[in-house]
Amino acid sequence: MPEQGQVRTGELDAQAEAKRRLALAQIRQYPDPVLRLQAQEVEAFDGDLAQLVERMMRLMGDARGVGLAANQVGILRRVFIFQADEEAEPRALVNPSIVERSDEVELEDEGCLSLQGVLVPVERALRIRLEARDAEGEPVELELEGLGARVAQHEVDHLDGVLIVDRTTPEGRREALAVLRQSAVS
Ligand code: ZN
Repeated sequence: MPEQGQVRTGELDAQAEAKRRLALAQIRQYPDPVLRLQAQEVEAFDGDLAQLVERMMRLMGDARGVGLAANQVGILRRVFIFQADEEAEPRALVNPSIVERSDEVELEDEGCLSLQGVLVPVERALRIRLEARDAEGEPVELELEGLGARVAQHEVDHLDGVLIVDRTTPEGRREALAVLRQSAVS
């Protein structure tokens, strides 16, 4: 079972670990202000977008994440990539919108590639329906459940400048901020 949210667990060999660290160094870290900004709709499904998606796919793979939003690489466009589960092919979604959320919610620990060392409980809808475009501009409609639904909600939050520290319990927030303060001084 992977950790919820963006961070996959598992033992890495030295080379994979070096790759992971290089990728993380290219991912914006809290409290980078770009993580707090609203991303803009994509209008051109062009080569620049394809390049952005390719770069994000590589970084997410190397960082061993299950999701990555464009804000996290410093680009304020409504683009994210994610895996519905560990075996699923990563896919890119552009201009996503969550059109339905189940009333049923689940509280699970969630991590984020931009908040290293933080794992806090976040309540998310168990099932969602999401409409978006793919990187070529074709319409996509997805029904997601469990981990896939959780990751997609996490990524759409990123595009609106919202982080897990805003969504967690008061206690989770205190713990997260303590970890982040610690890593800022070390
Ligand atoms: Zn995140």
